Amino acid sequence: MTYDNQNIFAKILRGEIPCTKVYEDQHTIAFMDIMPQADGHTLVVPKNPSVNLLDADAATFGPLFATVQKIARAVKQGMGADGVVITQFNETAAGQTVFHLHVHVIPRWDGVALRKHSGAMADSALLQAHAEKIKAVL
Ligand code: AMP
Repeated sequence: MTYDNQNIFAKILRGEIPCTKVYEDQHTIAFMDIMPQADGHTLVVPKNPSVNLLDADAATFGPLFATVQKIARAVKQGMGADGVVITQFNETAAGQTVFHLHVHVIPRWDGVALRKHSGAMADSALLQAHAEKIKAVL
């Protein structure tokens, strides 16, 4: 698969469609997943274009995972979670639905099951409230 710059995250990176942003630096952006598997589910997206991990320039990973760690710490603290799971899908067969590399940062609480991947759309005010909790501890 070749990279298509009309994918939804490319449009977010260009500011053509909105997102509920929690963080941005020179190399990465982090925003709330619109169909969260748990409250506080955040996506970290490198600005370098690639379909997924398999075709990415290795230079992407240092800045990307520095942001993943920053966001994972803030999601855990800001959302009062017991733990954080990091996921990343490559190709349709593996569950990838948006074809610009991204990393999921999903808070977990003891005894609370994850919701379905790409399940229900969240209320935008709720996403904003969760983003504020995360931003407050960044
Ligand atoms: P993946 O299956 O890893 O490609 O996951 C893509 C994720 O992007 C899913 O969890 C979707 O809920 C999420 N998503 C799709 N469109 C948007 C959007 N416009 N803003 C935020 N998250 C999105």
